[in-house]
Parts: sequence; C-alpha cells; structure tokens
Amino acid sequence: MRWRSPLADERRRYLQQQMELGGAEVVLSAGQRVGGTAGQTDSRPPKRTEVVPADASGNARWKRGAPPIPGPGLAVETPEHPLLGDDLASLTTLDEIAERIRTTHCCGLCATRTNAVPGDGNPNARLVLVGEGPGANEDAQGKPFVGQAGSLLNGILEAIEVPRESVYITNIVKCRPPQNRKPLPDEIAACIPYLHRQLEIIQPKVILALGSTAAEAMLGVRKSLGELRNKVHTYNGIPLVVTYHPAALLRNPNWKKPTWDDVRIVRQLLDR
Ligand code: URA
Repeated sequence: MRWRSPLADERRRYLQQQMELGGAEVVLSAGQRVGGTAGQTDSRPPKRTEVVPADASGNARWKRGAPPIPGPGLAVETPEHPLLGDDLASLTTLDEIAERIRTTHCCGLCATRTNAVPGDGNPNARLVLVGEGPGANEDAQGKPFVGQAGSLLNGILEAIEVPRESVYITNIVKCRPPQNRKPLPDEIAACIPYLHRQLEIIQPKVILALGSTAAEAMLGVRKSLGELRNKVHTYNGIPLVVTYHPAALLRNPNWKKPTWDDVRIVRQLLDR
C-alpha cells in the first residue's frame, strides 16, 4: 500500500512499516515515549512514516502472513434496557446521545472535564473502536484519539486499509480522568450505558476493544489482555476483538507484532 502524499499528514507518520524478508510484518515506529496511563497523550511532533511499496502482485500487504481468524471467546449480552434506562433508550441518534453526554453530569469526571468526548466518526461504521477514556488533547478538542496515540491508531487503520473516516471511535468513559488515571469502576458503571446505546444504534459488523480497560468493561470480566486477545468474543452477537491500547503500544515495542496480528484478524472479520 502507498501513502498518497500530500494526504500523508502528521497522523500517518507514526506508522513505520517495514517488510521483513518477504513477510508481512509491520513494525510501528519505536521510541515514542508516552507516560501515564493509556489515556495520556503527547503533543510532540510525530516521526515520518516510511513509504511501503505496493505488492507486485497487487495483493494487499496486510494479507500476507495474516493469522487465521481465531476461535470463539466470551459471549456477552447487555441487558435489554434496565441498564440503559428507558430514557436513554429513547435517544435514537448518535447526535442525541452526544448532546446528552455533553449536557449531563453523571459522575465525578464531569466536574473536571473541559469537554466531554462522546465519540466521533461514521454513524454507519462497520468497525467501532473503543478506547479507555479521553486524554489531555481529547479533553481540549472534544474528540477521541487526536493525540499521539490517535496518530498511531490512524496509521494502524491505514495499514489494514480501513480509513479512519469509515469507522466510529469512542471510549468507555466520555470525560477525561484527572492525570490520565484509569477510570474507576463507578465511573465506568455510570458512563458505559452510553456506549451500549451507541453500539445499539450503530450496529457495527466488528468491535475492536483497545486495551484492558475497554476489554474488561465491555466483556464484564477481570482478565489479562493475554487471556482476552486472540479470540473472537461476541458482544450482543457482534464479533469483538481485543488488542493493545495504542498508548501502551508506544511504550512497549514488543506489542507491535501482536497488535498487527490482531488488527489483521479484525480486517478479515470485516471481509467475512
Ligand atoms: N486514549 C484513549 O483511551 N482514548 C482517547 O480518546 C485518547 C487516548
């Protein structure tokens, strides 16, 4: 796949793709320090992205060496409406939900937010990505994944040939936890009905949970990422894949290869 410069803007530059020995390994750029928890972002200028030549046979790069779709994992069903409450269930569009989030104080995080971050993207998305919670940049702009982790996420999506504009991106909690700490259980409990309703409306084909906070909250379990990865869970019948959070990925280059495998599984599920 080729980046189509001049569209190759900053966000794409985080992804340094390298083909290794004719394989399809993608190595994301290393050495980008991101401190704090998953929600934390960094406004330092991004690194350049290497251009990857097109496959001579015309095949998508992501297909080469892609792992097979793994077996089933957990199956979770959200309650019909008790959790959401009849009131939230009466909201029928993502805009209505976003407006409700922006105008409601449902937990302590609302007091310290600059902007709520309801979610962003295509209301008809086939893929929904769920992160942990907004960081500083997201809080300032009211949009998810606009900092350094977001740039990396954009690069990952590009690598599987899924434009960011085609997906919907949101978080478990819609307001920034102070100092980018992990959201607390009561904050997650207060906010997750919005996510359930967003997914009810979008009805995506696949969900990708980014990091353990998102995975555990969506699947209702306490398990390590290692236990939750490499399975196709179902959330109300929708395939749900778990991978590393992009911010964690920036801190630990060893997780780049497994993440690349995870997103190629997602890509195959979208094609199925
Ligand atoms: N990290 C997250 O989990 N979500 C964002 O929106 C940004 C960073």
